[in-house]
Amino acid sequence: MTSPPCIRFAPQSAPDRLKVLREAFGFDRLAAIVSPGSAEADPLSLCHGLLAAAVRRGARLIRDEAVAFDTAGRSAAVTLASGRLVEADRIVLATGYVMPEIVRDGLHHVASSWAIATVPQAPRVLWPGAALIWEASKDYCYCRTTVDGRIIFGGEDEEFSDPDRREALGPEKTKALQSRLHAMIPMADLDLDRAWSGAFGQTQDGLPLIGSVPGHPRLLAAYGYGGNGITFSFLAARMIGQLIHGVEWPWFSAFAIDRDRIC
Ligand SMILES: Cc1cc2nc3c(=O)[nH]c(=O)nc-3n(C[C@H](O)[C@H](O)[C@H](O)COP(=O)(O)OP(=O)(O)OC[C@H]3O[C@@H](n4cnc5c(N)ncnc54)[C@H](O)[C@@H]3O)c2cc1C
Repeated sequence: MTSPPCIRFAPQSAPDRLKVLREAFGFDRLAAIVSPGSAEADPLSLCHGLLAAAVRRGARLIRDEAVAFDTAGRSAAVTLASGRLVEADRIVLATGYVMPEIVRDGLHHVASSWAIATVPQAPRVLWPGAALIWEASKDYCYCRTTVDGRIIFGGEDEEFSDPDRREALGPEKTKALQSRLHAMIPMADLDLDRAWSGAFGQTQDGLPLIGSVPGHPRLLAAYGYGGNGITFSFLAARMIGQLIHGVEWPWFSAFAIDRDRIC
């Protein structure tokens, strides 16, 4: 994958800034930050790769659903829907936006998000360098391209988690995303290939919940990443590894599951 072009010239006047951005990426904004050195990955292939690496190192994968946790004994135990029981010295909970009752706290809530993928675009429509674009406005949106030239455009978040309501809003959100894409890149072909929605867990203060589950020392958890799963999951893996080895840095408290709430 090629890196996005790095804009080195920093013009002072707004018209000059507009011109540089339009020439480099094809759309108008008063300012933008280009961050070179980023990467993208196919999440499904990445997960399969990581799981295969874990298996090579001795992990056993079980396809099941965790339905209950017991931490009262000398080891921790997870009861699975199939009736099987898994015992371990420590258990790490990482079930995404589905936060089990044993962890639940007032800081965490689940929100909904929508996305569309267009048909493949004419080459002159797409911006160069496979840049991932994030519009950091209050109603944020993001867009990226695929290897076969589609635009993926997402955002239009809402602060509710009900899947039926999310599904019902799909057509309306699709139209809203198409219209925002058109406003940003008027030449883009808005014909749809796919439209979908998803849920994600976030917190009131924007920081994830990572660490020991209060009252259950053998249970550790990682939740509330919001739209920053790639960054925070890596952080969680490092922090939880250290906690299991008895290492706890003072800054871990910023991510503690029982940290103070914002009123
Ligand atoms: C539309 C959308 C776009 C996003 N874009 C980005 C992005 O560009 N960059 C970014 O960094 N992040 C993005 N995110 C956020 C990112 O996807 C999440 O933060 C990340 O996937 C969370 O990872 P996780 O491993 O904690 O949970 P998940 O990926 O949700 O995995 C949790 C797994 O646990 C399983 N599970 C749940 N309950 C149980 C149970 N009881 N027993 C057994 N298994 C269970 C689930 O089936 C799931 O497979 C996006 C999210 C959405 C919805």
